Amino acid sequence: MKILFACSEAAPFVKTGGLGDVAGSLPSALAANGNEVIAVLPRYKIMDEKYQIKMQKVAEMVFLFNNEEEKSEIYLLEEKGVKFYFVGSEKYFKGNTYYENEDMDIQFAFYTKAVLEMVQTINFKPDIIHCNDWHTGLIPWVYNRLYKNRDFYRNIKTVYTIHNLQYQGVYIDRIMEMLDIKNYAGYVNFMKEGIENSDIITTVSPTYVEEIQTDYFGVGLSTILRRRNHRLYGILNGIDTDFFNPETDKFIYKNYSFETLKNKEENKLKFQEESGIKIDETIPMVGMVTRLASQKGIDIVMCVLEEMLKDEMQFVLLGSGEKQYEEYFLYLKNKYPEKVSVKIGYDSVTANRIYAASDIFLMPSLFEPCGLSQMISMRYGTVPVVRETGGLNDTVKSYNEITGEGNGFTFKYYNAHDMMYTVRRAIDFYKNKKEIWSVIIKREMLGDYTWKHSAMEYEKIYKKL
Ligand code: ADP
Repeated sequence: MKILFACSEAAPFVKTGGLGDVAGSLPSALAANGNEVIAVLPRYKIMDEKYQIKMQKVAEMVFLFNNEEEKSEIYLLEEKGVKFYFVGSEKYFKGNTYYENEDMDIQFAFYTKAVLEMVQTINFKPDIIHCNDWHTGLIPWVYNRLYKNRDFYRNIKTVYTIHNLQYQGVYIDRIMEMLDIKNYAGYVNFMKEGIENSDIITTVSPTYVEEIQTDYFGVGLSTILRRRNHRLYGILNGIDTDFFNPETDKFIYKNYSFETLKNKEENKLKFQEESGIKIDETIPMVGMVTRLASQKGIDIVMCVLEEMLKDEMQFVLLGSGEKQYEEYFLYLKNKYPEKVSVKIGYDSVTANRIYAASDIFLMPSLFEPCGLSQMISMRYGTVPVVRETGGLNDTVKSYNEITGEGNGFTFKYYNAHDMMYTVRRAIDFYKNKKEIWSVIIKREMLGDYTWKHSAMEYEKIYKKL
């Protein structure tokens, strides 16, 4: 099949979170199964130089946008069997951040048009256009209204994947006229249009697909999702197991596998040394690598972290996001210099070092569509403590002392003391039940986090269409 994957970010070129991971690895898994896959991203001005230099300009196109003839250039980079196209323009995507600017609605309206025009320009007629998250939500809608009856465009099917229902792209309408769509009144909700107009909707875990159909998790769209639930599927994400591999990872201090687990300890010692906390391999280290947003459960961490720090443990965090959270963690680092390490920012090297160095990985999310960090931590033999929601519920099973099953520790309610109790339970196993601890680690490290199974599920959906 010929598949066009539309996304606002894709690792390694552009990544701000899990969507970047997914768009960087699912297309190549689909290509490995014999499909012809292209991915289309905006050409952001701030993309890393090393990729900008490698890109080749392959075409130029001119189309009508906002009643003007707009020129757009198409650049190409190939990676792991996938052609990544970047659509650029003199006017758009020139900001100094990927997402934080006032004209996001106009930029992604322009991108919508550029993606649809591009397929004809490069003569790639897809069987499927697979859209991802709000930035691409207008593509199915504009396709249905303006393109599907044109000769070149007939019989293209659209799939829309919700990676996070919280970010919907809601704007007072000023773009529909630009796209030549008349009589559209009021607000534009990019994600809603994606959900309403695509042939199939998917989201990124079996639990989240149930959750978003409830009013509590539905962020205002649960009614529409319930109405379309005969076309709604939950497919769990995988991770890039080549990039996230403790045996070959170039970012970490010492490579290791399950057989050479002693080397994992060296990562801990070196991390302690470099971050200035107490150097002692016996102290349980609890890590977090996260966006600092309320979704990630930061509020309940703040409720009890000082109480937890009365025990012998260390807390290491890498994150960036909301100011009040950043300030809190920096304050805590100052107060407990031997026990707490905090780095504010986005940094893939430190991220992998934390996955490798920590004993326990904390992810107490309020909601979590899929979550990749818990899978990455398991791949690095770092035991996750998670809340039972979304993809966390599908990937981490709490250790059960009666049956001996489980690959981590979980708690059900969004409650700070439940979380604290669960971290303490994990620390107790780490310190006092070492044999069980190493069984859990082995299970994790041998787990399958590849895209193999999920790519097949997506293919089934494409074929159905
Ligand atoms: P989300 O997409 O909601 O942020 P996920 O768990 O799905 O959460 O994916 C997060 C991805 O982003 C993981 O690869 C994680 O390691 C990475 N990440 C999150 N915060 C940072 C950070 N501050 N620096 C580097 N990588 C980060």
